[in-house]
Amino acid sequence: MQTKHKVGILGATGMVGQRFIQLLEDHPWFQVTWLAASDRSSGKSYGEAARWKLDTPLPASIAALPVSPASPENAPSIIFAALDTDIARDLEPKFAAAGCAVISNSSAFRMQADVPLVIPEVNADHLALTSHQNWNPPATSARRGYIVTNPNCSAIGLVLALKPLAERFGLRAVFVSTMQAVSGAGYPGVPSLDILGNVVPFIRNEEEKLEAETQRLLGKLEGNRVIPLDARVSAHCNRVAVEDGHTESVSIQLATKPSREEVLDAWREFQPLREKNLPSAPLQPVEYAAAEDRPQPRLDRMRGRGMTATVGRLRPCSLLNWKFTVLSHNTIRGAAGAALLNAELLASQGKLLPSVSSS
Ligand code: NAP
Repeated sequence: MQTKHKVGILGATGMVGQRFIQLLEDHPWFQVTWLAASDRSSGKSYGEAARWKLDTPLPASIAALPVSPASPENAPSIIFAALDTDIARDLEPKFAAAGCAVISNSSAFRMQADVPLVIPEVNADHLALTSHQNWNPPATSARRGYIVTNPNCSAIGLVLALKPLAERFGLRAVFVSTMQAVSGAGYPGVPSLDILGNVVPFIRNEEEKLEAETQRLLGKLEGNRVIPLDARVSAHCNRVAVEDGHTESVSIQLATKPSREEVLDAWREFQPLREKNLPSAPLQPVEYAAAEDRPQPRLDRMRGRGMTATVGRLRPCSLLNWKFTVLSHNTIRGAAGAALLNAELLASQGKLLPSVSSS
């Protein structure tokens, strides 16, 4: 690409918004030109408004950008959204109605029939749903915008690990128990006195999202709707005292009975984006860590620049067929990186709305 698309970030000051800024620094296709957050932040420079929490420096050009009000006037036509669900439900349609491509992280529209819930390696074909959306009020001639969503941070690693197995062997049932990092709750998130030296066996609505999103992501596009995969999914979700990286213990029942080598081959050979050359796509979306005590969040979350799901500990399960552990970075693969990959896929398909571009 000769030119860069100008992009904006809604919810730019939060945990996911900060990851967007980090991942978009020097991006070959996209350039951040517009940032927005709540009324608490708008009118300030980003450097003043944001409590920068990442371990790379805040780029000086971003620190100097003003934080705009969260409304579509003057926003570019490609918007990465990292808003709390209730706010997203109100604001994202306004940006879509104004003609923006809204690439969203929130759960507000993930289960809406005409809104694609997408992991590019898993169900890129579901993006076709965007053509059934109509956010514009009747009788306006505004350009048609749309909303595309990525899944909950606990669903992405799980579904990446399940997809190659579902495709080759058929998937009948999944039992998953998560150990989710504190950064998944945003900033400031869980109070330190609740989580230090502790495990909290409850994350509101998380088990329901993990179960339903897994079935939808692995489901089949038929016309203008997705038929969810007919597999039983049961989830336990726990918050643990880990900074970044969600770990999940998984047992699965498959339709056929593959050998251990066949399961490992399915993961190793899963490279559906290989020919597309998307800048954020990892070479290996699912990588097996052979050591008996891996994957671990501190050691494995940055595989594939935070975009690879690491699996390990594959062994027979006495209740279902096989069991294993999967780990993925919750604010990269589970949030900002997931949305960025969705946007790259849309760009490669010529589906990003014409945006003002700069060289
Ligand atoms: P967060 O740290 O709490 O950030 C929320 C952002 O929304 C901030 O920029 C905040 O701006 C802005 N905001 C709040 N009220 C607003 C309003 N009325 N108008 C406009 N902007 C407003 O949350 P997060 O962890 O980044 O999560 C953002 C979304 O991504 C959520 O829907 C979350 O469920 C989803 N998600 C998060 C993760 C994760 O691992 N953290 C993973 C996947 C998906 P101010 O700074 O001005 O308040």
